[in-house]
Amino acid sequence: MKEAKRAYNFSAGPSVLPAKVLKEAGSEILDYKGTGISVMEMSHRSKEFKKIIEDAEENLRKLMNIPDDYDVLFIQGGGTLQFSMVPINLLTKSKKADYIITGSWAKKAFEEAKKFGDIRAVASSEDENFSYIPKIKPSDIREDADYVYVCYNNTIYGSHYNEYPDVGDKVLVADMSSCILSEEIDVSKFGLIFAGAQKNLAPAGLTIVIIKHELQGKAPTNTPVYLDYATHINKNSLYNTPPCWQIYIAGEVFKYLLNLGGISVVHETNMRKADKIYKYLDESKLFKGPVRKEDRSLMNITFVTGDAELDKEFIEGAKKENMINLAGHRSVSGMRASIYNAMPEEGVDALVDYMRRFEKSHI
Ligand SMILES: *Cc1c(COP(=O)(O)O)cnc(C)c1O
Repeated sequence: MKEAKRAYNFSAGPSVLPAKVLKEAGSEILDYKGTGISVMEMSHRSKEFKKIIEDAEENLRKLMNIPDDYDVLFIQGGGTLQFSMVPINLLTKSKKADYIITGSWAKKAFEEAKKFGDIRAVASSEDENFSYIPKIKPSDIREDADYVYVCYNNTIYGSHYNEYPDVGDKVLVADMSSCILSEEIDVSKFGLIFAGAQKNLAPAGLTIVIIKHELQGKAPTNTPVYLDYATHINKNSLYNTPPCWQIYIAGEVFKYLLNLGGISVVHETNMRKADKIYKYLDESKLFKGPVRKEDRSLMNITFVTGDAELDKEFIEGAKKENMINLAGHRSVSGMRASIYNAMPEEGVDALVDYMRRFEKSHI
């Protein structure tokens, strides 16, 4: 096979996957471990697939140090279906929940949850275009709230919880779609964590849910069967056909991360990568990062020149150097460099080098 020419792909999602994992998957695509078929063609009830999904769960538990009283689910529907499943399953007592609005994804989750109960925005950073994480105290939360909801890393705006939100004894739910496995997380601080796979884990089509066991099994009786977490918990994510291929790739990514030394090592690399860009942004006279320093994301780094034409020129020029998908989200414009786990450090170095050269020739 001809050696592939890989681009530095700064896409926010679907996004870069480790080349090593893609190569391995490529080598097994016609014949998975002597079965004569691809994982894509394999029964989800076969012993080979059973091993794939069991190993994936075991390795994810290892990577994240997931306590035994939490269930791990591999389901479909993306982050978006969790915007509905969370309120359907967790609004069980007062039917009240408090949401912290830190960007478009939190807002979408908030709007969806309103269909199912008494949902309140407890804090928002919309007043400053979502450039920071609003701080809350336990007393800000309604005494009888069934849960508190946060989006842990704001993929679009580039902000992130660099401290656990203090919700006292309330159940904390977090959307970690764009930061899962990028840093060490104390799972026991959360009632439920979910993540669409296509940012930092695997191809689109898989969602991972980590849920404290005591929270499940309380959905209303008229809940559609697929939307009840208990359905998937009781059948080990094999109630219906799961996204087999995505689970296989996720499993390979988990092994790859374990081989690198686990999440503490990955986190250190991520900090070093992000720091290179932020350090440059802080000294640049041309580029500016809009997010408050203490709330910066390690995964999605947003920046602007303040001139839409110049931004466009920057993005076009980057493409010529094989650095793609640097345009900001259509709702905010400017630039966004998504530097997930699988973005090689050389990609970050190439970007900073290009930014320096671009600045020199435009100032
Ligand atoms: C991408 C993203 C989503 C939406 O995920 P889908 O899988 O497209 O539904 C939700 N939350 C966050 C934080 C995201 O980055």
